[in-house]
Amino acid sequence: MHVKLWGTRGSVPSPTSATTRYGGNTPCVSVRAADGKLLILDAGIGLHWLGGELLGNGFAEDGEAHVLITHTHWAHIQGLPFFQPMLIAACNIHLYGDGGDTPFREVLLRQMEHAYCPVPNFFEDHIGATLTTTQLNESSFRIGATTITPRRVNHTPGVPTHGFRLDNGNSSLAYIPDVEYLDDTHRRPALELADGVDLLIHDAHHTSAEYESRRGCGHCSDDIAVELAREARVGKILLFHHHPDHDDDVIDGVVSRYANSGFTVEGAAERTEHILDSS
Ligand SMILES: [Zn+2]
Repeated sequence: MHVKLWGTRGSVPSPTSATTRYGGNTPCVSVRAADGKLLILDAGIGLHWLGGELLGNGFAEDGEAHVLITHTHWAHIQGLPFFQPMLIAACNIHLYGDGGDTPFREVLLRQMEHAYCPVPNFFEDHIGATLTTTQLNESSFRIGATTITPRRVNHTPGVPTHGFRLDNGNSSLAYIPDVEYLDDTHRRPALELADGVDLLIHDAHHTSAEYESRRGCGHCSDDIAVELAREARVGKILLFHHHPDHDDDVIDGVVSRYANSGFTVEGAAERTEHILDSS
């Protein structure tokens, strides 16, 4: 699997001169599987820039993408209206997520209302790509040769939130961008997703020093993320969903604490690529 990070920031975009290395776009990760299938994890603002790269590589001819959305907080869906392949008739875009009591498609539609959204409503105006929406549950399913396993994780009340595990050949990836562990029942699904993966992309919204005063807000700190990675025996963890107030130097300082962890700990940096062997 070929993984590329297009947005690593939590909550609100934070493009300042002090965030150029780790990035300011909200969550979006592309995964190109060995069989050529394109999977996209979350549809934050980073999705816009991924769309530009895809169109530069011929995606407009008959491109197909599978977009797996962990939950529908703004930071994870606001790139969707600005994903240019949505407006191209020859493209096929498949959206997967969970709207809870509301159909998933309906939740996505609401952000397309003209009062808020400057682009055409591709869900209802019958223009652009062929779209499908799939309501997620916790059943595993396949996209080409990749098996996707969703698990509900603890985040904030009222919005169902999933983490994902992707298995393809001998390579594996877990993506858990928004999660808080208030007890062992919250850790269990995350440990299951992350068990032995090559790469874990995990919430580290707060620093460990900040966490106690922010406990209950739905996010993790770096030490909690690294401890989960150790217990799950992952190959590498990328600390992800950086707090908007954390500049590059703050994230460097956090990462430097884990230089001797026995496995790789890095800060998730926009536009970086991570190759997982699928042999
Ligand atoms: Zn969230």
